[in-house]
Amino acid sequence: MKPTGVIIIGAGISGLLCATELRKAGKSVCVLDKGRGFGGRMATRRMAGGRLDHGAQFFTVRDSRLQRYVDQWLDAGVIKEWFRHAPDDSSEAGHPRYCGINGITDLPKHLAEGLEVHRSQQVVSVARDVNKWQVQTATGQVYTAEHLVLSAPLPQALSLLDTAGVNYAGADLSELRAVRYDKGLATLAVLDGPSGLPQPGALKVSEGIVTWIADNQMKGISPELPAITIHSDAAFAELHWDSSDEVRGALMLKAAEPYLQANVVEYKCHRWGFTLPVNPLPYAYYHNQSLRLVLIGDAFGGPRVEGAALSGIEGAQVLLQS
Ligand SMILES: Cc1cc2nc3c(=O)[nH]c(=O)nc-3n(C[C@H](O)[C@H](O)[C@H](O)COP(=O)(O)OP(=O)(O)OC[C@H]3O[C@@H](n4cnc5c(N)ncnc54)[C@H](O)[C@@H]3O)c2cc1C
Repeated sequence: MKPTGVIIIGAGISGLLCATELRKAGKSVCVLDKGRGFGGRMATRRMAGGRLDHGAQFFTVRDSRLQRYVDQWLDAGVIKEWFRHAPDDSSEAGHPRYCGINGITDLPKHLAEGLEVHRSQQVVSVARDVNKWQVQTATGQVYTAEHLVLSAPLPQALSLLDTAGVNYAGADLSELRAVRYDKGLATLAVLDGPSGLPQPGALKVSEGIVTWIADNQMKGISPELPAITIHSDAAFAELHWDSSDEVRGALMLKAAEPYLQANVVEYKCHRWGFTLPVNPLPYAYYHNQSLRLVLIGDAFGGPRVEGAALSGIEGAQVLLQS
């Protein structure tokens, strides 16, 4: 493969916004992702004729740098406001909660247009030569670049960097290694009628194993069929990580039952090895100038979509200045 300016590992929101900023500044950028789609944890899937967001449910914006992008995405018809006043959460009342028009993955898909993104390319090792990075994928492809940006959840990014056998973080390594993520389970279910959830079809649950129930039809992304997304807490996910769907899915549906007025037609579970970082780092990226290496993602500067997005934007700026 011909050398490029920057390789970004990961086509989640942080990697895609980093790539967008770098392209705007004239850099040649190649993004690699192991997934079949774009967006990482901003994920939408189809099931039995329904469409469901099974990772991130919505995002909020407080920073003007991201607000500028959000205004463009609203104008382009990529995202919409889902709701503003959370029924059970007065602390955040008033902030618009944005979602994709047809699913949260609309946004990463939109960002990937015009970028060079290679999907189904799991990076298995990275190596630093005198003045370039060499990245190898599971399919045997080799990519080279002057700069390397890693945007995978931090423990995965560090495992990859370990394959290079270089000292990439010195005394900072223990701080980077200390970042931990919660696991999560999502149960996705198609119903035989309206869910009965109150408007806007988003319910934060504060007791028991279920933390969240969303009605994707009320959200507007599953017009044909009522379909719900249920999220578990981290303790339940740990306990039932290797249980069958018949066990863990049934337990989650039972916990959600009091909130629903319809029957489940079909369900599936999805395991999330990394939901949110428990102890994110208080800076927006990690930069090793001599190695031309930048680490970004939601482990830096704040969890959630906005934190990851800003990490991507700031990571691009530091790379451009180096
Ligand atoms: C269940 C759940 C619910 C959530 N709810 C919300 C919410 O409502 N609001 C909110 O703001 N946030 C929410 N979040 C968090 C939010 O989704 C993340 O903070 C954000 O999407 C992280 O983006 P990122 O770019 O840092 O990482 P990711 O989206 O994880 O992107 C990293 C990418 O790296 C790729 N990758 C990893 N390893 C390799 C490799 N070896 N080779 C190639 N590619 C690789 C992955 O495939 C992935 O696409 C939720 C997350 C989960 C899981």
